[in-house]
Amino acid sequence: MSQKQWFAFDVSTKPENREAIEYGLMEAGALGTETVDSESDVRITGYFASPVDEKKVHSALVDAWRIYNQVPSEIDRVNFKVRAVADRDWLADWKKSWQPVQVGRFIVAPPWLVSVPGAVVSEPRAVATGSSVSSGPLDPIATAPGSDTVARGTDTIVIQINPGMAFGTGTHETTRLCLKAIDEYYEGGSFLDVGTGTGVLAIAAAKCQKPDREGGQLAIGAYDVDADAIEIAKQNAELNGVCDAIDFQVGSVNETTASADFVCANLTAIVIVELLPMLVGATCGRMVLSGILDSQEEMVRSRLAELGITEFEVDRDGEWIAMVI
Ligand code: SAH
Repeated sequence: MSQKQWFAFDVSTKPENREAIEYGLMEAGALGTETVDSESDVRITGYFASPVDEKKVHSALVDAWRIYNQVPSEIDRVNFKVRAVADRDWLADWKKSWQPVQVGRFIVAPPWLVSVPGAVVSEPRAVATGSSVSSGPLDPIATAPGSDTVARGTDTIVIQINPGMAFGTGTHETTRLCLKAIDEYYEGGSFLDVGTGTGVLAIAAAKCQKPDREGGQLAIGAYDVDADAIEIAKQNAELNGVCDAIDFQVGSVNETTASADFVCANLTAIVIVELLPMLVGATCGRMVLSGILDSQEEMVRSRLAELGITEFEVDRDGEWIAMVI
C-alpha cells in the first residue's frame, strides 16, 4: 500500500496571534494544527491532506485576522513555509491525543477508540460550561459500531466521528456549545443542521429521537455548502447507524426550506447575519446560533433585533458564544 503524503504549513508568529492563526489554518482546510511555544514566538503548523494552496491559506489567515481584530500590519510580519511531511507519525500522534469529549449526555469519540474491543475512555474532556457533566472516569465505551450505550446506568449517547477534512470533532468550543443546547432543549421533533461539517450535531439529534418516530417524512435535515463535508457526514451517520434518519443535502437554508422544531447553525457570525431571515423562517421552535466570537455578539444581536427577536440566552465557552433563541 502506498503511503499517503501530508503537507504542512508552518507559521512563525508572536504568541498573541496564535488563536487567529490556528483558526485561519482550520478554515483553510487543515485537518489539525500543532503549536510549539518558544520564548519569543510560536510555531503553528497546519496539516493538510493535499498540496497547500498558499493563496487560499493566506486569504483564510487575512479573514481570521479580521475576525480576531489583530493589528492589520502584523499579518505582513508572519513568516510561513510549506513542506511535505512523512505521513505516519503526526497522524498517529494526533489520533493518540484526540481524546473523547463529553457534553451532557453526549460523548463524541473517534472510531478508533470506540470500535476496538476493550477500548477504554478514561476521562473525556468535559465542556467547561456544562452543568450535567460527570467528572469521574467512565466505564469502557461500547464496542460495537453503531452501539450507543456506555457508562453505568446513565443514558449516555456515544457519537463516533471520523473527521476526514470536515469540521466538527467535538473538541471545538462552538460544537460543544451546540451539543449542550441539544442536550438541554431538543425533545425529539424535526431538526435542521445548517453547516453540518462532520455531521456531529445531526447525528446527535438522530440518536436522541424516540424509536417510535412516525415513518415517512425525514425529520432531520443536514446541509452543508461543502460537498466533501456532506460525504464525510454521511459516512459518519452510517458509522453511527443513523444514515436513514438524516436527509443530507449539499446546499444551505433558503426561503423554501421547510421549518423545523430545532435549528442549529454553527457557522460564522458573518454567514449567520446574512442567513438570519432564512434561519428564522426555517424555525418553528428553538434556534441555536454559534460560531460567533464574543466580540461579534453585538453584530448578531442587532440583526436579531431588526427581525424582532430580543429574548434569548447567550451561552459562553472561552471566547466563543452560542445564542439559544
Ligand atoms: N456543525 C458542525 C460543523 C460546523 S463548521 C459542528 O458544529 O461542529 C461550519 C460548516 O458550515 C462547514 O462545514 C462549512 O462548510 C459550512 N458552511 C459554511 N457556510 C455555509 C452556508 N452558507 N450554508 C451551509 N453551510 C455552510
